[in-house]
Amino acid sequence: MARIVMKFGGTSVADIGRIRNVARHVKREVDAGHEVAVVVSAMAGKTNELVGWVREASRAEGSNLNIYDAREYDAVVASGEQVTSGLLALVLQSVGVDARSWQGWQVPVRTDNAHGAARIQEIDGAELIRRFGIGQVAVVSGFQGIGPDNRIATLGRGGSDTSAVAIAAAVKADRCDIYTDVDGVYTTDPRIEPKARRLPKISFEEMLEMASLGAKVLQVRSVELAMVHKVRTFVRSSFDDPDAPGMGDLLNPPGTLICDEDEIVEQQVVTGIAYAKDEAQISLRRVADRPGVAGGIFGPLAEANINVDMIVQNISEDGKSTDMTFTVPSGDVDKALAVLDRVKQTVGFDVIQHDEGMSKVSVIGIGMRSHAGVAATAFNALAEKSINIRAITTSEIKISILIDGPYTELAVRTLHSVYGLDKQ
Ligand code: ASP
Ligand code: MG
Repeated sequence: MARIVMKFGGTSVADIGRIRNVARHVKREVDAGHEVAVVVSAMAGKTNELVGWVREASRAEGSNLNIYDAREYDAVVASGEQVTSGLLALVLQSVGVDARSWQGWQVPVRTDNAHGAARIQEIDGAELIRRFGIGQVAVVSGFQGIGPDNRIATLGRGGSDTSAVAIAAAVKADRCDIYTDVDGVYTTDPRIEPKARRLPKISFEEMLEMASLGAKVLQVRSVELAMVHKVRTFVRSSFDDPDAPGMGDLLNPPGTLICDEDEIVEQQVVTGIAYAKDEAQISLRRVADRPGVAGGIFGPLAEANINVDMIVQNISEDGKSTDMTFTVPSGDVDKALAVLDRVKQTVGFDVIQHDEGMSKVSVIGIGMRSHAGVAATAFNALAEKSINIRAITTSEIKISILIDGPYTELAVRTLHSVYGLDKQ
């Protein structure tokens, strides 16, 4: 017998028919004698609709300002998950599975006070565990918890992945299965490179990089949590036939296991290629070369909640001034330029240049730690395709390269093939 947390995303619970299919997956595990908690998202498109209503309701007539009370935003958008948890509990009961729905406040899932982007602080798993003991399935609403102000708080878009991993950690589950509309984690996006392969296993660290650098399978925070609490997390498809052979296999079900690197026997140098479109590059010229400038620039950007990514600074030739280039999401350019304009005089720099429509392509693999020449291979391969590199950043296990947006697909395919990731 094992204890399993099963999470189903929006497309998997998009209508009652699909919820019935989800119930078959759940029933399979229950019939095999496992203890099961299920975490659900809102039906596909529901959260967007609710967010739209919040915006509309909070706008004064005639205005197009998007300012709203975050506590009421949470009260509204958390309702999508409440609906699906109740519906799944009903469907499970209709097929003879003892099930009960749980809202975040009932578990309780305690969060901090950052309404709209709250972080989970503590989950009391005792009552869920007691219910396991009487053979009951807990169907928990993802994406939500209760804040210190005693109000519903939501975890940020995509947050039900994080709910699932956090609950798995709290009840000490053997595995957390994330059922989604793809059948695992691939070496790169199969829509761009049809030769992409599904990975049987990927380490927590690599998955964290993949998710942060553009792969959209899992919310980044959920991978962080899985890594810290060592929750073996499994990405698999909810559209597979729930009763096909091997689906209930405890050790090797179809999908991708995210686990500790020690569990991965056959280490590849490079595991995957990720990409993020819509990056913008901002360059500051003649930046004064003295202590405090970087803080003077990036401090105010951070205060304005602008996510700065790659930062490249050169060593000045004359000891007086240098250049500084960095990237931000395209949507944040205007806000960033306004902040920079404000600090320009005090910090001391000259022109601000910016370019939108960039992409960041990243090569990821823990094998890089012990192999030389991995970066050079990427640079040469891109050069051969005449793709110009604008900026480069690296860490122990990744290389990120900034290029012009229209070359994204070509760059992804080129790198995928040069590291031998193509399907045979
Ligand atoms: N329903 C929420 C969203 O759409 C949470 C989730 O699906 O993970 O962002
Ligand atoms: Mg999701």
